Parts: sequence; structure tokens; C-alpha cells
Amino acid sequence: MSRAQLEELQLRRLRTVLARVHGNVETYRRKFDEAGLAPASVSSLEDLEAVPFTVKDDLRAAYPYGMFAAPLHDIVRVHSSSGTTGQITVVGYTANDISNWADLMARTIACAGGTADDVVQVTYGYGLFTGGLGVHYGSERLGAVTVPISGGMTKRQVQVMRDFGTTILACTPSYALLLAETAGEMGVDVRSLPLRAGIFGAEPWSENMRRQIERALDVKAIDIYGLSEVLGPGVASECLEQDGLHVNEDHFLIEIVDPETLEPVPDGERGEVVFTTLTKEGIPVIRYRTRDISRIVPGECPCGRTFRRMERVTGRTDDMLIVRGVNVFPSQIEQVLAGIPGVAPHYQVILSKRGAMDHVEVHVEVVPDTDFDEIRELETLRRKVASEIQAALAVNLDVKLVEPKSIERSQGKAKRVVDARSEQGGV
Ligand SMILES: [Zn+2]
Repeated sequence: MSRAQLEELQLRRLRTVLARVHGNVETYRRKFDEAGLAPASVSSLEDLEAVPFTVKDDLRAAYPYGMFAAPLHDIVRVHSSSGTTGQITVVGYTANDISNWADLMARTIACAGGTADDVVQVTYGYGLFTGGLGVHYGSERLGAVTVPISGGMTKRQVQVMRDFGTTILACTPSYALLLAETAGEMGVDVRSLPLRAGIFGAEPWSENMRRQIERALDVKAIDIYGLSEVLGPGVASECLEQDGLHVNEDHFLIEIVDPETLEPVPDGERGEVVFTTLTKEGIPVIRYRTRDISRIVPGECPCGRTFRRMERVTGRTDDMLIVRGVNVFPSQIEQVLAGIPGVAPHYQVILSKRGAMDHVEVHVEVVPDTDFDEIRELETLRRKVASEIQAALAVNLDVKLVEPKSIERSQGKAKRVVDARSEQGGV
């Protein structure tokens, strides 16, 4: 498909989806009306810049079904975003949406070199999370042998990989490394198995980690991208060139905007990724701000695919961390500390590696008059901080109390997160 043909298709689909959300979703109707925007007046893709953005809070405010653009009668599946303490958002799919999703995931697996001859081990979690079922339907659509093992039971995963002749592994990149380690402990030489590719996503990862995985499992490690608000996995994926993720532009419009001014940035410059869904019926999103930082990779891909590529996500606009699948915001930690006497609101989150898994330690300053000789008191305080963080964030983080003024002060935005993972034995 030529670029001109693609853009014609995108515009036609854009006009349809704008009319759909304006007609069926109160939130969009209000936003469009406030902006003086009539969907019918959008006559080019450039006109999208006049359309208001959508943010996660819009979905939260409309919990559970307020953003649905189809009646529940037509919804055949719901999933939700990961999240804790009432922060989840619900997304709904019509039968058409599920079918498109299967096509896009089949495309994703094919992009990683997969065919109907492959055996795909789906180690992403099944359930409300979009990963497991997303890959599952795509693998079946491709005609591959699909192994719906879901997450956990790491030794069993290794046995299945060996006994079923898995050729493509789908899981988070950190879990791929754990599988490799576990196989080693079990005396299974994974490098001698037929495994040849992995489609890895659902958490940020680095080039170093890619090389580690490729060495440990003797596979091509392919980065895939998606988020439940936009679809789930299947929004974009790397091809075997491993140089940027092709965005499925016939179903999603990608924009990169400056996170401060919200103005579009030129191709090649980093900014916040914004998506508009072009074909979704259940819960279309219009100019959805993902908070992910990326850029458009300039130029054409040697693989011949014409869809533009986005660089692997290099960060988040809001410093959000994903710890063992749970979203953690440093601001939540700040809030917990503010409620505990004896500690100062100065803290740092230190990310490091322990084996294949991420390790997170929170350094917290105690107040200036603290007696460091009172070991027992300090330990009680440390435990209190740890348990209150656990209660508020639903994740267990190691806490270390440090001396007053030992955490570096900054003039501007405090450096709350120190990522020491890439400095440690990456290559
Ligand atoms: Zn390519």
C-alpha cells in the first residue's frame, strides 16, 4: 500500500471513528463541543491537531463503561489495565475488535518471523490483563500451535518448552531471563532447543537486556508494544531488523508531541506518544496520551514494510515504575512518607539487578535529631515505612534508612529514581 493510499484509508477511518465517539460517548461529545469541533469538519489528517486529547483520568472518571462507544449488547469481552487501589480502567471489545486484534497479533508474530509451523508458548498472564489472550488469539489466527500456559510455574515452563518443541516464546523480557536461569539450574540446555524467537513486551527493557536474552536463550528477541487503552499488544512491533517498532498505521494513528506544550514534534525527535484508534468499536480512543516517551525512527526499514517505526519506549513522562507488574509512582511513596513521623520527605528509589530480576530499594532519610545508636528503634521505623508502602502500593519494596541530608538535593526536579540496572554487568 502506498503512503497516499494509506493516508486516504486513515482519513476515512478517522472520520468514521470521530463521528462514532461524538454520537455515543458523553466525554467525547462534551470535549468536542467545548472545542467547537464538529467531526464532519475534519477533512484532512492534519485537522487531527485541533481535536482534544484524551488522558487516563478520562477513562477512570468514566469507570466502568462510560467510554464505551458500543452498547454492552455488542461487547463480547472486557479487559482492564493493570493498576492498584481502584485505579484500573475497563476496556471493551466487540466481535470485530477481537477479530482485528487477532489479525494484528498474527501480524506481530509474523513480523518476528513466525508462521503456521511455529509452536508459540504464551507465558503472558491470561485474565483481565491483555497480554495472554492477545497473543493467544493472534497465534491461533496465524495457524501456529498455541500453548496457553500463562504465567508462573517456571520449571513447568522449561519442561513444556523442551517437550512441546516451543519455537516462539511470548513473555516479559525479565521472565525470559528467569526461564533461562531456571533451565540452567534444571540442567536443560536451552540453546540446544528449537526455540528461535521471543516476542517480549509489557515492561521497558534495554539493548543490554536484549543481548543478554539472545545469548542466554539463543533466540532473536523482538520488542512488541501495546497498551490496554489502545488495544493491548499488537499496536506496534519490531521486525527482524530490530531497529524500531512498526506501528500498525492502518489501525492506529501515531503522533509524538512535546509533553509540556503538547505541540507535535518533528520526526526523529523524542516526545510523548499519542495514539488515535481508527477501527476500534468498543472503546475507541482519540489522541490518547500514553505518557510513554519515544520518537519516530526516520527513514525506511530494510525489511520492506512501509509502516513507520517508533523507537523502543525509553521512559515515561511521569517517572512511573513497573515493579513486578505493578505500576509504582514515586509520588505515591512521597505521600506515604509524609504520614510517618521520624522520616523526612527525602527519598530515592534505587533500581538494580539481582540475577535476572529487577530489585528495588527505597532509601529514606530520617529526621535530623535521630539517634543512630538506637538500632532497635530504627529497625521498628524501617519496618513501619516498608509496611506502609506495601499497604499503599501493593508491592513489597526493600527500605533502607539513611542519614539526614545524605540524599543529594537538586535545584530543579528531584532525582527520585536512580536506575543502576544498565551499569551492572549488562554486557
Ligand atoms: Zn522492518
